[in-house]
Amino acid sequence: MTTESAFDTALSQLRRAVDQLGLSENEWQTLSTPRRILEVAVPLRRDNGNIEMYKGFRVQYSTTRGPSKGGVRFHPDIDLEETIALAMLMTWKCALTNLPYGGAKGGIAVDAATLSITENERLTRRYTSEILPIIGPERDIPAPDVGTDERNMAWMMDTYSVNAGFAVPGVVTGKPIVLGGSLGRTSATGDGVAISTREALIHRGINPEGATVAIQGFGKVGYWAAVALENMGLKIVAVSDVNGGVTGFSSVKALWDHFLLHNNLNAPGTDRLSNEELLHLPVDVLIPAALADSITAHTAPGIKAKIVVEGANAPTTPEGDAVLNEKGILVVPDILANSGGVIVSYFEWVQDKQNYFWDADEVKQNLNSIMMKAFKDVEDMATGRSVTWREAAHMLGVGRVAEAHRLRGLYP
Ligand code: GLU
Repeated sequence: MTTESAFDTALSQLRRAVDQLGLSENEWQTLSTPRRILEVAVPLRRDNGNIEMYKGFRVQYSTTRGPSKGGVRFHPDIDLEETIALAMLMTWKCALTNLPYGGAKGGIAVDAATLSITENERLTRRYTSEILPIIGPERDIPAPDVGTDERNMAWMMDTYSVNAGFAVPGVVTGKPIVLGGSLGRTSATGDGVAISTREALIHRGINPEGATVAIQGFGKVGYWAAVALENMGLKIVAVSDVNGGVTGFSSVKALWDHFLLHNNLNAPGTDRLSNEELLHLPVDVLIPAALADSITAHTAPGIKAKIVVEGANAPTTPEGDAVLNEKGILVVPDILANSGGVIVSYFEWVQDKQNYFWDADEVKQNLNSIMMKAFKDVEDMATGRSVTWREAAHMLGVGRVAEAHRLRGLYP
């Protein structure tokens, strides 16, 4: 049973950072208030002619440090509160990694798996059209999130561009390469999770070579993290998707080959395990890379991993977090661990602005150096102030936004 929503979680993390930084109540008011919220109705004509109405959202939590930035989520459970929470997390994430952005998030309460491609396209285009007045390369730049991918970004870029009268690639990131996307964006979040995992193991004095990993979620984040970690010499012992987990596969590549052919993870010679069994495996690293609220007061006590690296956004409730801290488990928080996606989104936006495109090595090197800098900042802050890594990451992110507020002052 979880008692916390992603919104409660995000707000309590912010409150803690504000207290630890010694910020004023005025600053708390400023930091805890989302700046612009748009809720739209998104009508969809189904392929069979029926018309259905969906709720869409775009929340620009902060624009203090630059245009707002964040993904678009298609998920049946998304609502305004969760969108605000995720937009708030994007704000601290961009500040922590020193990207010149505020934070945003958007979404439609829809199960993308129930849509045909043509329905998905119509829904995406209508949503884009509804939020059109508030997005743009200098205003707010959407990107993929749960349930959306580069196809959705292509449709969003096209819808915006047709309305502008010329191509505007910089309005979204995570686009196909031929439309101004960046090399390395597809795998970026997973690559960043892998860098965080490697560095956290080194911090704990564990050799990454041969270290064991369980990954909850085998989507855009979990899959690419698994590939990158396997390339670094770690052993992925279990992964799961919405249908449960699997263990006993010879390699991530073998499992993926089976998945592509059969659309399930039941490769010959593997054993099934439940999502909870996966969370409780005796591994060096556990990577929750699915949805929010997976590590809770209920699931945390059984966790045996030495390190938790949060690939998903807000996968741990405050109650679950307290249990992990008591057990001495090192938690690399979401806003650090999964920041690789928005970091390479930033590279994509910069390349689009300059009409000059980098090679894959340049993307990789720059991703590594930004992540290593953020990682070191968090490590130093956690050690220097005797706080958890989550607290340190929030103190850094929130502190930078607070400082930007102070320097800009209040108009009028
Ligand atoms: N949806 C990703 C995140 O939560 C990426 C956002 C972006 O690239 O703007 O960080």
